[in-house]
Amino acid sequence: MSKEFKIYEVVLKQLDDAATELNLDPQVKALLKEPVRSLSVAVPVRMDNGSVRVFKGFRCQHNDALGPTKGGIRFHPQVEQAEVQALAAWMTFKCSLVGIPYGGAKGGVLCNPKEMSKGELERLSRGFIQAISPIIGPDKDIPAPDVYTDAQVMSWFMDEFSKIKGVNTPGLVTGKPLVIGGSYGRDSATARGLMYTVREAAKELDMDLNDATVVVQGYGNAGNFSAKFLQELGAKLIAANDSSGGIYNPDGMDAFELKKYKDEHGELHGFPGSKDISNEELLTLECDILVPAAMENQINEKNAHNIKAKMIAEAANGPTTPEADKILNEKGVIVLPDVLANAGGVTVSYFEWVQNMYNYYWDKEEIDNKLEKIMVNAFKRTHEKHKTAGVPYRVAAYMVSIERLTEAMRARGWVE
Ligand code: GLU
Repeated sequence: MSKEFKIYEVVLKQLDDAATELNLDPQVKALLKEPVRSLSVAVPVRMDNGSVRVFKGFRCQHNDALGPTKGGIRFHPQVEQAEVQALAAWMTFKCSLVGIPYGGAKGGVLCNPKEMSKGELERLSRGFIQAISPIIGPDKDIPAPDVYTDAQVMSWFMDEFSKIKGVNTPGLVTGKPLVIGGSYGRDSATARGLMYTVREAAKELDMDLNDATVVVQGYGNAGNFSAKFLQELGAKLIAANDSSGGIYNPDGMDAFELKKYKDEHGELHGFPGSKDISNEELLTLECDILVPAAMENQINEKNAHNIKAKMIAEAANGPTTPEADKILNEKGVIVLPDVLANAGGVTVSYFEWVQNMYNYYWDKEEIDNKLEKIMVNAFKRTHEKHKTAGVPYRVAAYMVSIERLTEAMRARGWVE
């Protein structure tokens, strides 16, 4: 991430835009501007060569008006405290928008998991949970997977916390494997939610998804499942990339085969029938739906003018800067914002937590149906606001979200 890119300012700008439209109570705005709690930790880890390395990590709880805070933990070489705070704020707006009883949080550890052994990753995961254990718990703050963390890391988190407390505590984290209290559908939930959002938006916009062209930036968990689900609706994937490079085939590529290829080869490059493409070329390809599913700040004032997609569905958190939003809006590009489009992940996390709390597990159909209902409803309320207030979807989503947060803060007596 470039140094001059101030990520928390993105949150403040987005909050500002919605606050102006809502004529928001300044006390509510003041509460939403600041994270309630931020912890910075140093985690010593014994490396395989016998040396000890100290890893920096953060956990930030942004706002807990609606309930215990919730949000993922990422393992990434460029994590910054301000970034984690911004990501925590986005979780607050996301949970409120879809109507689940959580506030927002996020965590991050500065490390490169690709260069670490399984043993080193386990020791780091356990060490990080020990370090943040005073401020997390099933009724306080519930972590989950995020960039480069998966069900295995969640298992270590849960096991370590359970050992510290002396009580099996599956409700501490979500995104666990099924066998120790995970939920059906959690791994593909972010993408399934995105697919419902795109489907509903397409209906409103009269966009035919049959043969609609899709470009995916980031073929990780959210990206590859998004491509598969959109393909199931009739759309075709024409380009995708990951940190090792990108590929393009205007005739379309099978999203399932591409994931298999990536698993086998460790990269997308060389997929039959495709040619290589750079990240900038990929983002500015002519297509119907662009799915940024990687990191923040990808669509910015430098490339927004050249974006040719009709619709952007944000699987990543914070991929579009406010400057880019303005340009895209003027160009008539529809942006389905992160807090709406990728909210399926935390929604199924909520289902997982509920199942953990009463120790009774639902089948896949029940999960998918409940997720669909929540996502369709969140889209409808956002769409209505978009129409009645005459604002882009992002501002509309924030408005709906902030209205609920305001009600909760009033009920608690935090504001008049
Ligand atoms: N990391 C995901 C997100 O950004 C999921 C968070 C969760 O499930 O708590 O929405």
